[in-house]
Parts: sequence; C-alpha cells; structure tokens
Amino acid sequence: MPAGAPPSIRRINDKYDKVFVNGCLEPQVNGPRANAAFVVLARNKELEGVIQSIKSIERHFNRWFHYPYVFLNDGDFNSTFKETVLNHTSGPVEWGKIGPDMWGYPDWVDKAVAKEGIQKQGDAAIMYGGMESYHHMCRFYSGFFYKHELLQKYKWYWRLEPEIKYFCDITYDPFIHMEREGKTYGFTIAVKELKETVPNIFRYASAYKRMNNLTSKGLWEMFVEKPKEEPKELPKDDPKYKKPLPEEILNSEPGTGSLPDIDLEAMEGEKYNMCHFWSNFEIARLDWFRSKEYNDFFEMMDRSGGFWMERWGDAPIHSLAAGALLGPKDIHYFRDFGYRHTTIQHCPANAPARQLQRIPWLETTTLDEKKRIEEDEYWASPDPPKENGVGCRCK
Ligand code: GDP
Ligand code: MN
Repeated sequence: MPAGAPPSIRRINDKYDKVFVNGCLEPQVNGPRANAAFVVLARNKELEGVIQSIKSIERHFNRWFHYPYVFLNDGDFNSTFKETVLNHTSGPVEWGKIGPDMWGYPDWVDKAVAKEGIQKQGDAAIMYGGMESYHHMCRFYSGFFYKHELLQKYKWYWRLEPEIKYFCDITYDPFIHMEREGKTYGFTIAVKELKETVPNIFRYASAYKRMNNLTSKGLWEMFVEKPKEEPKELPKDDPKYKKPLPEEILNSEPGTGSLPDIDLEAMEGEKYNMCHFWSNFEIARLDWFRSKEYNDFFEMMDRSGGFWMERWGDAPIHSLAAGALLGPKDIHYFRDFGYRHTTIQHCPANAPARQLQRIPWLETTTLDEKKRIEEDEYWASPDPPKENGVGCRCK
C-alpha cells in the first residue's frame, strides 16, 4: 500500500483483505517459487486465443517467474499447437489428455435422459445449454481437473483461458503471498450467473450444507439474496416450517439423471443471489479441491443430474463450495490485477467502489460517499504510482 493511499482504503485493507503488494515494484524474481502451475484447458482450434493469453501472462508476470504450464485437452493437441505454444512460453510445458473417466457421461447417468435435457436447454436458448461439450467442460472443471495425473505434483494452480488479457504488471508471486497469508482461493471478478442456467443449484448446495451441519464461516452470506422485506414468519403448523431434509435427497438413488422435485427454497427461506467468482481466472490451492469435503460436495451436486438437466457452470459450483466450506479470511480478492475476458473486465483503477457494492462481505458501513469518491480518484488517477518503470493501464 503506497503511503499516498487515502485513509479509507488503508482501513478497508486492514480490516478485510490486504492487497499483497500494491503499486509498482521491481519484480521480486529472486524469492522462492511455489509448487504451482498454470492450467490451460483448450482445443486446437483455440490456438490463437491461447497465444493471446500466453503473451499477456508472460509479458505481465511469467517472464520474471517462469512458472510451468499444464495444457489439458479431451482430444490430442496437434504439433502446430504444441510448437506455437512452446515458442511463447518461458516455463516448462506439459501436455495432458483427459480420459473418459473425467470427461463425458459417467456410467451411472442415463444418457438418453441427459441428452434430452441438453436438447431442451438448447431449444430454450439457454446460453451454451444445448452444447454437450460445454456441459462436459463445466463438469470437468467442477470435479476433475484437480485429479488429473499431471496436476498431482502441484499444490497451487492458476487458471488460464484462451482470450484473456492482463493489463497490469504482476511484480510479486501471488502463490507465495497466498501461502504466506493462509489463503485458499483467489478471484478477481465476481458477477451474477444467468438464472436459467442454474435453477436448482442452490437447493442442492444448501442441502449439502445442512446435511453436513455446516454453519457459515461468513462467506455463505455472499451468495444469499438479501430479503427485500422482513421475511414473513410461517405459522408453526405450516408443513413448510422446518421440514426435515427431503427423503429424495437423503435416500436418493444415484444415476437417475434427473433432479428430484424438492422445495428446499421454501424450507430454507434462502435464495441464491446468482453471485459467483468468475472462474476463468482462479488462483487456488489444489488440496482444497482434493479435500473430502469438496469432493463430497461435488459428488452430491453431480448425482443430482444438474450438470446435464441444467447447465451448471464450474464457477457457481466452486463459489458455492467455497461459501459452504470457507470463510472470508480464506479468500483473496486480487483487486490489484487488471484482467479481462471477452466482455467483462476488472480494472484496478475503478475497483474499490464498484467491487464493494458487489461483494457484500467487503461492504463497510463506514464508507460514505465522499470516501468512495476519494478512492475512485486515487485509483483512477491517469498515472497510478509508477515507480520502477512498470505499471498498470486499463486500456
Ligand atoms: P466461456 O468462457 O464460458 O465462454 O467458455 P469457453 O468456451 O471459453 O470454455 C471455457 C474453457 O474450457 C476454455 O479454456 C476452453 O478452451 C475450454 N473448453 C471448452 N469446451 C471444451 C472442449 O470441448 N474441449 C476442450 N479441450 N476444452 C474446452
Ligand atoms: Mn472463455
């Protein structure tokens, strides 16, 4: 935090989640490296977008740090793809194939039912809903990537996608800093999911939380819609009042491939606000994904059939798992990373005010409008602190 930062920023960062290093420093290239890799899932046809992403991460980070890359594909990477990637990467590269055990329909699913579900989502013009491969991709990133043999040796991962752009030099090692601060999961953008892709996701996520008697560590609330008015109390004899967990969930037969019709929403009185960490950027501990708790969560979500009968993305899956299992102190908001993917970007120049409104647990009542403006001016100054010639421009 540069000395010139306004007091309100300093206070927020002290109270919630310090930016590890802010402003522009000489890249810290001589420190120890973490046991970490970039993970890129891609197809041959995405080569151009992949190279764009690699150029960007190399220019702004990896030319100093030389972290390895793991490329994954359900098909085979061709030689053009491999050679071109090798011409642009400054760290070791490994090529991994994803087998049918991690991609596509598991044996227990009724394929005909699943395919019909996907077709219906296509007919309903749900974004990517009719695209079978997209469903496979989301399920892979939800419950399998961290089990891939090439990732076993790593403790941390940083997800890269085709067609992403970093705007700012990242002159410190985010893995090392996350490790030092005891962080588990890092994000840079939180957005709202398209409702029609996840109509039942929250019912299952809350059921998981209740079945395992998990009490919120303070992050779950980030995903719960705040009631507009005082919730009406249900009369005690209303059947919806404290209904025990539905039999359908407790005794559900795996492999039906369809969602049981349950009304957990009414029972819980909690509604998903559609907020999620946008997972095309993610820096996280792989051992959290590998934990029994995360895998139980994935298994329950998976067995519900929601990856086929709906179009659950890996982003809300990761986010709701974090909500159920982690607390705010485990999460790091990389507000200092300039990042863009397709149409959505995070620019540090306008981060605090905008992101504070989006992320309830970063909200603070002491932050009045005047301070917000003060912050905006600080972050939006045309020349943010530019000490050793490296800097950040959100263009
Ligand atoms: P979007 O960002 O949600 O629009 O989805 P993308 O099309 O970018 O897909 C997300 C990630 O999964 C990207 O890294 C894609 O390269 C990758 N991906 C998506 N579908 C497939 C697929 O069928 N096979 C492989 N190998 N990668 C895929
Ligand atoms: Mn993408």
